[in-house]
Parts: sequence; structure tokens; C-alpha cells
Amino acid sequence: MSAAEFDLIARIRARAATRGDVVLGIGDDAALLQPPPGRQLAVATDTLNRGVHFGDDAAAADIGWKALAVNLSDLAAMGAEPAWCTLSLSLPDEGGESRQTFVDGFLDGFLELAAQHRVALVGGDTTRGPLSVCVTVIGFVEPGWALRRDAAQVGDEIWVTGTLGDAAAALALAGVAPYCDHEVRNNSGDAQTDAARLFERLHRPTPRVVAGRALRGLARAGIDISDGLLADLGHVCAASNVGACIEAGQLPTSHALAAARDGDSRRVLQLTGGDDYELCFTVAPRQRASVLQALSASGTLVQMIGHIEAQPGVRVRLPDGSAWTPPRNGYQHFG
Ligand code: ADP
Ligand code: MG
Repeated sequence: MSAAEFDLIARIRARAATRGDVVLGIGDDAALLQPPPGRQLAVATDTLNRGVHFGDDAAAADIGWKALAVNLSDLAAMGAEPAWCTLSLSLPDEGGESRQTFVDGFLDGFLELAAQHRVALVGGDTTRGPLSVCVTVIGFVEPGWALRRDAAQVGDEIWVTGTLGDAAAALALAGVAPYCDHEVRNNSGDAQTDAARLFERLHRPTPRVVAGRALRGLARAGIDISDGLLADLGHVCAASNVGACIEAGQLPTSHALAAARDGDSRRVLQLTGGDDYELCFTVAPRQRASVLQALSASGTLVQMIGHIEAQPGVRVRLPDGSAWTPPRNGYQHFG
């Protein structure tokens, strides 16, 4: 390990918060962690690469936030309570000072979100290479209470948290394919505020940890929407050996997105656009009241968008009852 790497790790260690169940954190060959008795561990890992998951101009603090957020979103989708994380940083061999500036900014975003969820950074790795961030999160879940992809049943209602399509609309505004060729409709005086809201959703997604916890043991199946509703719900259906029908008229829409897009152009974003990190989950009709009560106590907006059916595949129905197919062939594989 070079002196520069040692110095970077020292900076990270100095800022990382700890918690009581961390017996030994950053600094030894491995961390020592004390899980609570009787709980299962939920473990998820996700990597963000420059040029693939964020652009050259992305703010370091936003990269830090999102690197942790996408991982917390995976734990949320299992109904798990996050506790610990590790961070592997691959940093380009540029001047030591700009590396330090990047890491300081990165930690601003990363540790802000970690503090919100009381997650302790307990270790990691620091290497030289193209900019890449790999985070692993570890959390707890009660045995049998996790929201698994393979648990949906015919007749279940399909629900989602928050609003859909905002992050994809921001990508469209930024000119990122494949969404940018749709006409942007926003002529209102609030266009800039709306755009800022959409970019906030893209750069600083809210992991639905509280909602996921509220759903454990109540909802049947769950997944977080990282690749687009149709694709991710498709994973649930495939794992559960069922199909789904989505009511296009029920998709929850933010004011900002409603101002920017309508019709097919909005539906493409909401059904096939990724990066929203909302939860999609299925509920047995008899559990609906308990689920709604638990979620409203957690302060999360939710919307029912369709039903699980026996026929395989994911279908979308328009308000007039006709079937919706994506406007271009390129989107077909999402369905
Ligand atoms: P080793 O050579 O034993 O793997 P390292 O030099 O890679 O040790 O790391 C030293 C300590 O610093 C370890 O406890 C490791 O978990 C921690 N660490 C290294 N990089 C990071 C990082 N990016 N974030 C958090 N902890 C880190
Ligand atoms: Mg190491």
C-alpha cells in the first residue's frame, strides 16, 4: 500500500461513524460484526462505473450518495434493516490532490445517506484504476419475512411506492438515449424547477428502506425498480411463475413529469425507464388494509397499479381497455 492510499484510508476512517454492533471496524484485516440473535443477514452489492452508471461531469457527492442508495434500495426491496457496509474504490492515477478532493466530496454524499440510515462503514478496498465504486451492504431480516421475488400469487394486487419515470425524464433532458428523441412538452414558467426536481430524483434517489421494513411479513413479493417497471416486474413474474397486467392510467406521476411529458412519451419513461429506485410489491387482497396502514404510518405514498394473473408475461392496459405496446421495437424486450 502506498503512502497516498494509506492517507486516503485514514481520511475515510476518520469520517466513518460506527455503531454498537461493530466489534472492530476499518483498520484490521477484516471487520468483526455482531449480528442480533435470531435474524438472518441480507447481503447486497452493486458497482457504479464512470461512463456506464454516471457521466464524466457527475458531482462526487452525488456519486457517493447514489452508490449507497442503490444498495440500500436492494435491502429495502427485501424488507431488511441495513446495518453495515463496505466500500471498494478504484481511483484513477491523477494528482493526489484531485484524488483527495474526489474522495472528500464522495464521502459527503455517501456518509450523509449512511447517517440517515444509521449504516456503519466497516471496511473496503482502495486501488488504482478507472473510476469505479463497489459497495456492499449487510442488513437484518426476520426469518421468513423477506420480500422475495418468487412469492407473487395469482390474484395479488401490484403496488408501487412514490412516482415513476422521473429519473428517466432527467436522462431524457440530459440528452441520454434512448429517451431523448421524444418531444419535451414543458413550456411553463416552472420548467427549470421541474427539471431540477427530476435531476434530484436521478442523482439522489431515496431508498425506500422504511417502506420495505413496513411491508415485511405483510406484502408477498417485492423488488426495487432499477431497470424499469416492466423489466423488474417481469423478474418477479418469471420467478413466481405468474404474469401481470398493469393499468397505464394508474401509474403514479410527479407534477414535474406531468408538466414535461404526456401520452406515449410519458408512458415509455414510466414503464421502461430505470433509476427510480421505488419499490414494486404484491399484496394479497385480504392484506390490503394492513399494508396501507403500515405504509401510511411510514409516510410513504403508494399506488395500486395492477394485478398478478396466471398468463405469463407483463401486459399494459390503457384506460379505454385496449392493450398498450411500446411505440418502438427497441422497447419490445422490456415487455
Ligand atoms: P489489506 O491489505 O489487509 O486488505 P487494506 O490496506 O486494503 O488492507 O485496508 C486497510 C484497512 O482499511 C482495512 O480494514 C480495510 O477494510 C480498510 N479500507 C480500505 N479501503 C477502504 C475504503 N475505501 N473504505 C473503507 N475502508 C477501507
Ligand atoms: Mg485490501
